[in-house]
Amino acid sequence: MRPLTPGSIVDCHTHTNFSDGVGTFEENARAAVAAGCAVLVSTDHLTLPAVMDPAGEVQVVGAELAAHRVAWENARDAHPELEMIYGFEADWYPGCEENVLRWSAGAQVLLGSVHWLGVIDDGAWIDDTSDLAIWRELGPDEVWRRYVDAWCRACESPLPFGTMAHPDLPERMRNEGFAATIDLEPLWDQMVACARDTGRRVELSTAGWRKGVGDYYPARGLLERFCRAGVPITVGSDAHVPADMCDGIAAAYAHAWDVGYRSVEAPRADGSWESMPLQ
Ligand SMILES: [Zn+2]
Ligand SMILES: [Zn+2]
Repeated sequence: MRPLTPGSIVDCHTHTNFSDGVGTFEENARAAVAAGCAVLVSTDHLTLPAVMDPAGEVQVVGAELAAHRVAWENARDAHPELEMIYGFEADWYPGCEENVLRWSAGAQVLLGSVHWLGVIDDGAWIDDTSDLAIWRELGPDEVWRRYVDAWCRACESPLPFGTMAHPDLPERMRNEGFAATIDLEPLWDQMVACARDTGRRVELSTAGWRKGVGDYYPARGLLERFCRAGVPITVGSDAHVPADMCDGIAAAYAHAWDVGYRSVEAPRADGSWESMPLQ
């Protein structure tokens, strides 16, 4: 395994049809190769308690975890030209630690995410545009406050989250009629302090551009604060269809450089993490 050349395309966040994506591992791998990918990290949504996903629409259900692993290994073995890494996007929720460790056994990368605040007992995720109940009930300012509290508890958890995915996910609803009315900067400062103090990486996600947010996750002001605090970043597309594998990652590198980053962190197939210069 050689060091990555500066600016290599490393997509740290992708989904298949085992969770809420569309493509197979094989289709994703082929699309990633076509996009010039060096390292592709597969991060389907990890198995969830029934209350969070009653119909099993979002997660890799427990009964399919073994088949999921085999399908990933088959795609990896068919694509020696691509470095593939097995991971999961794991939701943080109170008391999740034992579940996450059990269900993610064998994963090399865990993304830490907060999509679900546990307020309404119907599985509503804060980024689900088909179910806005939590946004209507709490309002955007309270969603934001509770999100940041949960996000900081996720950072503080003993789980080995390799990076914290889409750090300002509530921005998903900014252009859906639920923009925060409070000044977000104190909440941003809270997030930056939590990530710095717990030694977490955070993700620079290109998904916001495909979701109508009009910015990366995190927004530029928050990314600048992470940078000033010395919080390292990973970059991910959060692709749910093969055509989006590695989408926008080269542009995200340029954006990160502009904000002040000179390197991004990349997981490697041997389980290590590498700091890759952007140029
Ligand atoms: Zn997510
Ligand atoms: Zn995702």
